[in-house]
Parts: sequence; C-alpha cells; structure tokens
Amino acid sequence: MTRAYNFSAGPATLPESVLLQAQAEMLDWHGAGASIVELSHRGPEFIQVAQEAEADLRTLMAIPDDYAVLFLQGGATGQQALIPLNFAAPGQKADYVLTGHWGKTAIKQAKPYVDVNIAASGEGEGFRGIPARADWQLSADAAYVHITANETIHGVEFRDTPEVGDVPLVADFSSSIVSEPLDVSKYGVIYAGAQKNLGPVGISVVIIRRDLLERAGQPRADIFTYASHLAKESMLNTPPTWNWYLAGLVFKWMIAQGGVAEFAQRNARKSALLYGVIDGSGGFYRNEVAAAVRSRMNVPFFLHEEALNKPFLDEAKAAGLISLKGHRALGGMRASIYNAMPEEGVQALAGFMREFQQRHG
Ligand code: PMP
Repeated sequence: MTRAYNFSAGPATLPESVLLQAQAEMLDWHGAGASIVELSHRGPEFIQVAQEAEADLRTLMAIPDDYAVLFLQGGATGQQALIPLNFAAPGQKADYVLTGHWGKTAIKQAKPYVDVNIAASGEGEGFRGIPARADWQLSADAAYVHITANETIHGVEFRDTPEVGDVPLVADFSSSIVSEPLDVSKYGVIYAGAQKNLGPVGISVVIIRRDLLERAGQPRADIFTYASHLAKESMLNTPPTWNWYLAGLVFKWMIAQGGVAEFAQRNARKSALLYGVIDGSGGFYRNEVAAAVRSRMNVPFFLHEEALNKPFLDEAKAAGLISLKGHRALGGMRASIYNAMPEEGVQALAGFMREFQQRHG
C-alpha cells in the first residue's frame, strides 16, 4: 500500500487511523452483526454514534449550550440558501462581505430571498486581501452579516472575528472549522461542509444560536426549516449515517491528538513553512495574498512560468505528492493542508518545491 500525501481541497485527506478504524468496523460494527451503515438511524447503535459525534464536536469547539448543533445534508451551498430562508424576512436586507469565490456562491444562493447588500468586497483587488472593517458599509436593519471565514480558492482567511454589533454574524467555516480555538459566542450561525476538516463529503455541520431559530424567516418547506431539524435531532428524514459516523471518528481522533489548540500550532507551523518557501524563492513561486490574511488551510501559489505547471504536477506526483493543481477559477497550484495533513507531508512538499526550483530555476 502506498498512500500519497494528498493536498486536495475537498474531499480531502482523512487521518489514516480513522480510515483503518472504519475499515476494521466495516462488516461488523462493535458486535452488532452489521455495518453501522446498514443499521437503522433510529436504532440504539446509530443513536449512540450520532450523540457521541455531537458531544465530541461540542467538546472540541467549546460550543455553549445556547447553541444548537445540526448535522444536515445539502452541503455548504445548501446552507447558503437555507440561511436567508430561515433568518430573514422576505426581501429584508442582508449584508455580505465578499472576500472570494465562496462568498459569491453565498450571495447567489441568497439573492432570490433577500435584498443582498455587498457591505465590502475584495474583488477589486483580485481577492488578495480583506477590506478593512472601518470601510464596511453595513445596513442598520440587516437580518445578518455573512462572511466567509476562509476562502478555499483564493486563500484568504479572517484572522479575527469582525465586530458587527447586535446583528448576528453568519460565517461559512467550511474550510477552517476546528483548525484553531474559536469563540463561538461571537457568531449567530457557523456552518461548514464536512469534506475538508471534519470528515467525508455528504454532511454539513450547522451551529445556530438558539434564539435565532425563533425567527419566522420566509415561506418554506418543513425540510428547509432548521427548527424542524433540531426538533427531530437532525433526523427529520434519513440522515447520511455513514458520513456522520466517519465525522464522529474524525472528532475522536482530533480530541485524542490534543484538540484545536494543538491543531492551531501544527497549522501555524505548516502554513509558515510553505509561505516561507514561496516568499524565499526569489519570485520562482508567488502568492500575492496580503500576509496578515493568508490562509493557514489553503495555500495557492503560482510558478513564475506557466510552462512549468505540468512538470511541477508530474514530478510532484512521482514524489508522492498529489492533488496540487489549483482551482480552475484561479489556475496555478494550491496546497490544502487541513488538520489531517501531517507535518511530514508539508515538509515533504516544501522539500520538493525547493528541489524543483533548483532543477528548473
Ligand atoms: N464554502 C466554502 C468555503 C467551500 O470551500 C465550499 C466547497 N469547496 C463550499 C462553500 C461549497 O460546499 P459544498 O460543495 O459542500 O456545497
């Protein structure tokens, strides 16, 4: 068996021990005589899995009791549509701070339901920074303020929580949740697709300050209603049990590794190493994001000559380093280095990048 270091942005690498555990439990989960994925979501086995996953995530993130935690289908994009439906009155204003590609999808999903005010945008600067808080044009009567905590494609990350007064702050944490300690109480809603830092694709985590669930929102089906999902403990319909189970294994792994404080340190070291190689390359590699808001999770970079892209990817693959091709929206390269990417993987990539420059520089 040869597992490469996999820098995919999502679905992304998972801890090897989690995959091995899932493999070992595949045919017979804890003596149940069946795989967990073959058992009813309402049976005692899966209920235990589901409850432990929620409890472990609450522990990891220190989620206060006045916040509900939901495990839902629909991906992060689905939540981007449900948020205005649940938390804004028809046509009400909602403020969006646009810092990259995923902020745009959030706006696109919200537009049919709310009066989107782009309170600030980094687009004019090619999404290489985050507009200063002082320059945001927030609306007084907004239903919420939406930010993308980490832009997975553009590699731009909020390094602190913006102050937005009494208006609930809604944040897409798809690509940076559980990567460092976070004060959940500063947010109204935190949502994330699982396929980067939490586990497999097919399930999303939504953390909601409970008082917001009392908002009427707008006409919608019950299945699009967060409060209904909460009333049924995320089992309003058949949940994605396999994904929930795997995410639960990832949560246990993260706790055993030392929790988010430990991952914050590892992630700081990992990203500093890569940005150091890029910045120290004399222009051979390039990342133009403002240093203060460079993402610790997704490191996009360009080679000084486009003709080198293919040899870079081919030689990286031969060296056991895969999925480094940048998103088609941006081109170039991207190394996604979530919690499950070991420091040895990033050291291997850094070493490869230096060697590649020597050979082709
Ligand atoms: N937001 C962010 C920050 C993302 O990185 C992604 C996916 N890469 C999405 C939203 C969309 O997620 P999904 O595909 O789960 O709908």
